[in-house]
Amino acid sequence: MLSANMVVLAYLVASVLIILALKGLSSPESSRRGNTFGMVGLFIAVVVTLQLSTVQNYAWIFTAIAVGGLIGAITAKKVPMTHMPQTVAFMHALVGLAAVLIAVSAFANPVGYGIADASGSLHVASRIELFLGTFIGAITLTASLISFGKLHGTLSGSSVTFTGQHLLNLLLGIVMIGAGVMFCIEPSWTPFLIMLGIAMLLGVLLIIPIGGADMPVIVSMLNSYSGWAAAGIGFTLGNNMLIIAGALVGSSGAILSYIMCKAMNRSLFNVLLGGFGGDTPTASAAGTRTDRPFKSGAAEDAAFLLKNARSVVIVPGYGLAVARAQHALKEVVDILMGQGVQVKFAIHPVAGRMPGHMNVLLAEADVPYDIVHEMDEINPEFSDTDVVLVIGANDVTNPSAKTDPTSPIYGMPILDVSKSAHVLIIKRSLSVGYAGLDNDLFYMDKTMMIFDDAKKACESLIQVLD
Ligand code: NDP
Repeated sequence: MLSANMVVLAYLVASVLIILALKGLSSPESSRRGNTFGMVGLFIAVVVTLQLSTVQNYAWIFTAIAVGGLIGAITAKKVPMTHMPQTVAFMHALVGLAAVLIAVSAFANPVGYGIADASGSLHVASRIELFLGTFIGAITLTASLISFGKLHGTLSGSSVTFTGQHLLNLLLGIVMIGAGVMFCIEPSWTPFLIMLGIAMLLGVLLIIPIGGADMPVIVSMLNSYSGWAAAGIGFTLGNNMLIIAGALVGSSGAILSYIMCKAMNRSLFNVLLGGFGGDTPTASAAGTRTDRPFKSGAAEDAAFLLKNARSVVIVPGYGLAVARAQHALKEVVDILMGQGVQVKFAIHPVAGRMPGHMNVLLAEADVPYDIVHEMDEINPEFSDTDVVLVIGANDVTNPSAKTDPTSPIYGMPILDVSKSAHVLIIKRSLSVGYAGLDNDLFYMDKTMMIFDDAKKACESLIQVLD
């Protein structure tokens, strides 16, 4: 068994590795290294924790690790990339559940957890920790389950609102805090269970009014909540490692939410309170397609423009992921670059269905990182671009975000593709994207629609270009 100092040192090493993991994950180039740091850090943390004298029953722990590991491995192999947001939401729910279960078990046996004095009375600090851990965990649990249902399509993605919703949430919040304060003064099951029940209800009420297009920010916010819930468990268990890792997840999730809010022109304050985005149409909304004229062409027409261009910028979106067209697209890029065309990729921060979705797809297809550019970097270059190839993207190119103050996405920064000389759009129809909105870009004089599945369109381009 390691001495107390060695345990502290090992936890410090694990914490530094987890910080390096987060740093590594901030760029596609270093993300593999970041993952390795994270795995090694967590391995050290688990092994050191398992040898602590407080661990008494290895059979239960190893059974849980085996069952959980098996389910995790099967899920990771089976879940398609397009289902990642709901999978992540489900995992957040599990962290919330763990926080609640640990709080219940710690309160049921405070002496066993070392959080009571000799008379069996809970330490005051532990009461506060249990209160915070329980309500953050319970909100994370139910809010994540509702998010899972919305993202998976089990529940309707549209916003559910009713009169007095915010007032009800406020009242419930006050009662929950009141019960928590009572619990801290005189710990007993009644205030504990009232606090737990209301927190679970609040988790549901905070998420139901949120419209589908705003769910990404919520998933990232719940990621942050799950980190704070884990930190709460760390306080209950007196485990510094868990406190540090939880705080890192909590704060990085909050920073990611802030970045996403900026990318979608939403206020973080509204997200934290819940109940925003209710006026935003969702994927299920009918859309507003009008019968305006548009130009369409075949792969041959697109190939002609592409191979005669000096510079081409490719804008990938959700449709690329659905069609699994990234490898075929990479072949198109290789052919064009081989013919002397300068090719770059433009990535919008919320393209696809999860942060970094497009970067992951392009990395999977071995697209070199130096031709992949973020929105702010590439936007000034569109006016000097001959052809933009939009493939399976829609909302992230919609000019109404800039031009139409009545548009639900008004104010959301977009990729300025309409500034280029020619725009080619590969998608199957004129259908709307996730936000449920028609896109003026489709009807511009400089735009040519190529109506096809993204992968089939790329395969046709390969044949014509070769
Ligand atoms: P959009 O959802 O706006 O549009 C995707 C387009 O892809 C659709 O219009 C669809 O048109 C087309 N498409 C679907 N399947 C195929 C296929 N097989 N081949 C070719 N095209 C296809 O995607 P964007 O990436 O532009 O924007 C992302 C949207 O998702 C934003 O509104 C964002 O807020 C939201 N969101 C983002 C998340 C994130 O974290 N990145 C998470 C959740 C939501 P058609 O049917 O005509 O083919």
